Amino acid sequence: MTFSDLNLNRFLLDALTEMGFETPTPIQEKAFNVIMSSRDMVGIAQTGTGKTYAYLLPILKQLPFSEQKHPRVLIVVPTRELVVQVIQEIENLTPYINVRFAGVYGGTNLNKQKQVVYQGQDILVATPGRLLDLALDGILKLKQIQKLVIDEVDEMMNLGFRAQLITLLDLLPKKRQNILFSATLTKEVNELLHDFFKSPIKIEVAASGS
Ligand code: ADP
Ligand code: MG
Repeated sequence: MTFSDLNLNRFLLDALTEMGFETPTPIQEKAFNVIMSSRDMVGIAQTGTGKTYAYLLPILKQLPFSEQKHPRVLIVVPTRELVVQVIQEIENLTPYINVRFAGVYGGTNLNKQKQVVYQGQDILVATPGRLLDLALDGILKLKQIQKLVIDEVDEMMNLGFRAQLITLLDLLPKKRQNILFSATLTKEVNELLHDFFKSPIKIEVAASGS
């Protein structure tokens, strides 16, 4: 199977080809149709298995052009480094697509990030704490969120973001698709799935070499 078998549009395929990527990884192949179906999903796979494109490709394929100011896709990751990395991956995939995206994270000037949010975007990538600060401040409106991705949720729990994550989940519109990725399914992660996900489809990819 190649990326063209996923029925990606030409704009995404051209970007992938230019990066030299031809074949989806197992998690990318498995997650694609589930995310396209709008069902809730949980993906369990180790680091390095290609989880970022596993959610970015179907999301970018589905995201219609919009003039709307408030974000429709929210991607929550545990650290600033990951925000920067995900933003870079979106940039790599979208040279031919008109999509607006931005990243916000803690440890930097809040007012500058308010200005970023104020410009409006389709996809917002964020760490939990800064995201909550911006939402509670009122500058960031979450009422249009249709898709939520929580990436590296096990790491998020390890870093003590559980309460913030739950507060955030309570702020989001009820009618949305939830997509979660984790290296392992811990008790805390299972509780989160139980409390906030609607019959999620679980996909799992074995660690390479196992
Ligand atoms: P994970 O989130 O599972 O740790 P990443 O999404 O960060 O993995 O991807 C790991 C690396 O693999 C990145 O450098 C990425 O560019 C590369 N990669 C992702 N998908 C593919 C693919 N289909 N073919 C080749 N390389 C890929
Ligand atoms: Mg990752």
